[in-house]
Amino acid sequence: MVTMKKQPATPKAIIHQKFGQKARYQVEEVADVAENLCPGLTIPQQTKIKYRCILELPDLTVSSGTFSRKKDAEQSAAQIAIEKLGIEANEQIPTPEGAFDELIARLNILFTDEFLLSTHPLVGHFRVALKREGSLFGLVPISAIAICDSKVNSICKFIDIHAESDPSLLLYLISKAAKASTSLLTSDNGFFIQKQNPTLPEATEVLVSSQVCESKNVQTEAVFIPVGLNEEVKGLKIDICEDGYFLDVIANILKTRDPSHILSSRTVGKASSEMRFYFSAPECLFSSLAKNEVVNATYFEAVVNKRASYISGQTIYGDAILANVGYTWRSSNLLCEDVSLCTYYRMLLGQLPDGYYKLSREAVLTAELPSFYSRANWRGSLPKDLLSFFCRNHRLPQPIFCVQKVVFLEDNDTTSDNTNFLRCEVKILSRSEEPLIVCSFPDTYRKESDAIQNSALKVLNWFKVYFRQLDLLENELHSFGIAPEESFKLYPKAILQEFSFWTSVFAKSLCNYSKLNRILENRVVLSNIEGPDSGVIPSVGSVTSVSYEVRLLREGDDGEGYLLEKNEEFEFEVGSGAVTYPMEVCATQLSVDQSAKFTVVPPPRDVILASTSTDPSYLSDTHLENWRLEYEVKVLQVAAPMEERMETAFFSPPLSKQRVEFAVRHINQSHALSLVDFGCGSGSLLDSLLDHNTCLEKLVGVDISIRALTRAAKVLHQKLSNHCAMRACLKSAVLYDGSITDFDAQLYNFDIGTCIEVIEHMEEEQAQQFGDIALSKFCPKILIVSTPNYEYNPILQRSSLPNKEEDQEEGEKPGPCKFRNHDHKFEWTRCQFEKWANDLASKHGYSVEFSGVGGSGDEPGFASQIAVFKRGLLREGNNGSRGMESLRRPYEILWEWCGNRER
Ligand code: SAH
Ligand code: MG
Repeated sequence: MVTMKKQPATPKAIIHQKFGQKARYQVEEVADVAENLCPGLTIPQQTKIKYRCILELPDLTVSSGTFSRKKDAEQSAAQIAIEKLGIEANEQIPTPEGAFDELIARLNILFTDEFLLSTHPLVGHFRVALKREGSLFGLVPISAIAICDSKVNSICKFIDIHAESDPSLLLYLISKAAKASTSLLTSDNGFFIQKQNPTLPEATEVLVSSQVCESKNVQTEAVFIPVGLNEEVKGLKIDICEDGYFLDVIANILKTRDPSHILSSRTVGKASSEMRFYFSAPECLFSSLAKNEVVNATYFEAVVNKRASYISGQTIYGDAILANVGYTWRSSNLLCEDVSLCTYYRMLLGQLPDGYYKLSREAVLTAELPSFYSRANWRGSLPKDLLSFFCRNHRLPQPIFCVQKVVFLEDNDTTSDNTNFLRCEVKILSRSEEPLIVCSFPDTYRKESDAIQNSALKVLNWFKVYFRQLDLLENELHSFGIAPEESFKLYPKAILQEFSFWTSVFAKSLCNYSKLNRILENRVVLSNIEGPDSGVIPSVGSVTSVSYEVRLLREGDDGEGYLLEKNEEFEFEVGSGAVTYPMEVCATQLSVDQSAKFTVVPPPRDVILASTSTDPSYLSDTHLENWRLEYEVKVLQVAAPMEERMETAFFSPPLSKQRVEFAVRHINQSHALSLVDFGCGSGSLLDSLLDHNTCLEKLVGVDISIRALTRAAKVLHQKLSNHCAMRACLKSAVLYDGSITDFDAQLYNFDIGTCIEVIEHMEEEQAQQFGDIALSKFCPKILIVSTPNYEYNPILQRSSLPNKEEDQEEGEKPGPCKFRNHDHKFEWTRCQFEKWANDLASKHGYSVEFSGVGGSGDEPGFASQIAVFKRGLLREGNNGSRGMESLRRPYEILWEWCGNRER
């Protein structure tokens, strides 16, 4: 029996007891004001941050309201889930008979007058039912109960486990329980339930009058998915009147008698949306249900809507409509949101082993799942998360990672460091928890995370190859796509069973696409190459950043075409397979600052539609042959593999972190209140400072690169919107666009100035000029300047990197590299640096000391050398504050934040 007991345990505790690790809480920030105003904003931003929690359970996702404490948001989400599922602490798993009684009891509760006054989403349906006239008065479609009440859903699962995957079975069970209830009536023409005793007039009145007065007509976009696989999926508009009943409208479109014949899938897509597939159950299903016959699944096979069923994971019959309409807990009004064709095709693409990677990089037409992983160079969602997502989408259990230490017996050298060599095995299980694939790889890693990410990626790549060859037979599958050294155990029967449905839906178009791709690879012709050859060319292993646009053009048309995809800044590792072949060919033929165009044959319509949310009405299948995709690409930047790898892989903690800690020590020792970072780049120092406890009140960054500054603004805005260590005392943070060889009086007399790995990016004269201006005009009390130590380069070049596998991936070691980064104009020896600094110090009345980070500092010095200038006491008064100079303000504010002092 269902009772409403008071629970002493917290909602989270109850959820934990029931779901354990399967409950996933995700807290997101919600800005009260000024959301999305950053970056590039010159007005002060004062955002209050609130939290919303999304709780994902195996069959239910709920979203809390907004709270100022994360804790409260989580508890609230847990409470909503408990209410929806009707969980009680220590609940026992009921028997099918017990569950059936419970279902009857639950239905009885749903039809009480008290229930009508609750905030349950089903109340929306009641309201409509009570407003109807004639024979439909007070009739609630059973499917509405199946849609709205998660508790009914979970009880039905205990009666028959298949109710989870079959909405029509759910309908049948509810109808049966309603018939068995003494206080409910079922209609004989269809699947409606009604109360035996009429609703109390008071309840009706409260309910009907509680509705918003104005009844607007709303038009919402939805997607129509025909049952026939050869028929095109189309966009469609649904007209909804808040006064009317949305299920009537859907029934009308699906040409069904009345809303009780409409069934719905569970919600799909984004968490907390009401997006569902609606469909009408075939007549014969109703007749067999009405006759109390058990539904014969194979009988209905022919009318299964495979596309909709695949995405929802439930059995959907006939034509289906994907719409985001419904009553919610959040408000008593009807919620409706547009569902575009793009949304549908993205869900479809997300089912592919590499689909979610493309989506996560917002580069459907450009990104490819890389063939190997390296910690420093990976961009986008991590392989482990991608594999988890893939399994979840295919309703497989989560992948199992098993990391083992490897002992090399022949290695008798006991004096060698006893670092671990790790290997990771991955198991993918079927829905029934039988093995599908068990893979282990020969590669070893020093870090557990590297072992896991690499293995996950290899499994994904195996699936990627398999998904292009889905028509394989059982005997062809035994050793399909496995390299000789890999020990990969495949279970062909189970694999075919899990993916057969997918095969029947998508195999054809996918195979065609991959054939097409192979043809493409041979013809990439660049045109319109613009810009001077800077000589800096993306090389294998380097992280390259490009901007690009992809347009769809009709052959012979001179117009602009249709913009499908655009990225201002897209980074990828050259040679890792992270972009389409033509894109890689293009990027590696251009030098930094050059741009070019090339055209390719367009991918299938499905892929194009996933890439664009603009109206695709111009695209119809037959026309695609006359279309082409035109890419316009510009190479923005190339990070040499050496510097990046050295910084993160060779030193622990990474050099950048050591520099931050170095700066923090000086900030704290000097009790600095203000800091300016000269050449702040994308804000890595400022960002990390926010995580430290210092008494800094003012943070300023200057750079000449708008692109870097924009990135810095984003990063800082995000950090400051969170609770970070420094937020308590920080009063302002500003980013200026300007050259540090140019004086600006706003930055005069700061407590500390930093100039981290910047001077080597300027010509030597400019470095000299910066030094003079910094010490004579900006006059910080302390100035910290760091730059690479040229004498350390041979060590970096000689030494093998600690991660052996990265060398293998590289194919060959980078050749002798004069400087650590292509953009460096010089790299100084200790002697050169010390001369520069000593001359400056004595010229401008500063003292200077030398140290560094990276390495012990013994011969040949630190990897990164640092000069710390301190202003002499005699130089307290100076010219920077006086005369015309004090009016000099050439810098432009790019972004500004004013602290929230109460916090
Ligand atoms: N300090 C940052 C960035 C180092 S990269 C870090 O440690 O991460 C060097 C930066 O110096 C680049 O962002 C470049 O735009 C900037 N820079 C080069 N010349 C400059 C100049 N004259 N004025 C301001 N910034 C400059
Ligand atoms: Mg540098």
